[in-house]
Amino acid sequence: MAQRTALITGITGQDGGYLAQLLHARGYRVIGVSRRTTANARDSLPAGVADIELVSADLLDQASLCSIVDQVQPDEVYNLAAQTFVPASWKQPLLTAEVTALGLARLLEAVRLLCPAARVFQASSSEMFGLATNSPQDEETPFHPRSPYGTSKLYAHWLATNYRESYGLFVASGIMFNHESPRRGAEFVTRKITRAVARIAHGLESTLVLGNLEARRDWGYAPDFTVAMHAMLQTQEPHDLVIATGASHSVREFCETAFSIAGLDWRRHVTVDPALFRPAEVESLVGDASKAAKLLGWRPTLTFEELVHEMVQADLQSLSATLGIRSGQVARLLPAQP
Ligand code: NDP
Ligand code: GDP
Repeated sequence: MAQRTALITGITGQDGGYLAQLLHARGYRVIGVSRRTTANARDSLPAGVADIELVSADLLDQASLCSIVDQVQPDEVYNLAAQTFVPASWKQPLLTAEVTALGLARLLEAVRLLCPAARVFQASSSEMFGLATNSPQDEETPFHPRSPYGTSKLYAHWLATNYRESYGLFVASGIMFNHESPRRGAEFVTRKITRAVARIAHGLESTLVLGNLEARRDWGYAPDFTVAMHAMLQTQEPHDLVIATGASHSVREFCETAFSIAGLDWRRHVTVDPALFRPAEVESLVGDASKAAKLLGWRPTLTFEELVHEMVQADLQSLSATLGIRSGQVARLLPAQP
């Protein structure tokens, strides 16, 4: 069979790197889209895919997307690029809409006009459920986004549906719940906590300032989610599917678990600053991924405790490497294997 080509927007982000690894391992020609403004895009790729092809395009720029899609003629397109941080979406609502909502419109136009047989994956978000009316949320749950980010994702989600229904394009949206890893952006709460645990364990800091500790999320493992993304482009017909673990935990529980892995008591280090509360909060999300399990055979591979452990361990190790501490000492900082 001829080698298949995958085009990934958001290659420098958390999911982009894991997806590139997965597709590369499965024999794809992988082409990552990065913005010209990204400093050292290649440095943000994980080991094993550091030499994949990178092309320059921007979701804000129609011509650059058309030119890449025309040139590459991808079999599969994964749209992972977005302005992804919810608090930033209140500060920059128009930019968020331009990238996260209209960015998909530009990409779908490029595909429709220049490579209509390509299969497209859209990274939709559980933030579209927002103030959810039922729990757990599934494909039938009504949407009620609570931020300019969620609203922009919802526009893109419906546009994906619309291009499927209007033009017969193969566009599948994964309604993904939060997923984390050692590559998660430092501003998201999980990584903010695990990085702080490492710094506190090494005596570099003593306090971690957080916002709403009672918010609950369904936190999964990012590499598992890239397996689902790929599987969603291999089905006979395109589907919109919830991708989630089905387990929900509070920010407080995440703290408790992360600090205890490093032998620390979170209550001695965490303080709450109301300034970090959001204008409108998504209090609780938990997904029902039984349709994905049925159609794709997809299941999460890590428990919550294993995920937190992996993230804490990675941050302890990387900080130790930076500080030049030997691995035996790291083991003493990391007593508990869940
Ligand atoms: P990241 O924030 O780690 O990565 C976002 C990517 O988008 C970066 O590569 C960034 O590039 C790129 N990007 C931003 N603006 C533009 C632009 N104008 N043109 C081109 N590229 C741009 O996100 P994740 O990997 O965590 O998430 C992947 C996708 O999945 C996102 O769409 C996200 O909204 C969605 N999602 C994620 C969830 C999660 O929990 N991780 C949950 C649900 C959905 P640069 O490096 O230049 O900034
Ligand atoms: P989100 O679900 O995409 O918004 O992912 P985040 O990791 O940014 O936030 C998850 C939850 O953690 C939200 O309900 C936040 O209000 C809550 N939270 C509490 N403290 C913090 C904090 O200091 N930073 C962030 N990013 N979130 C926090």
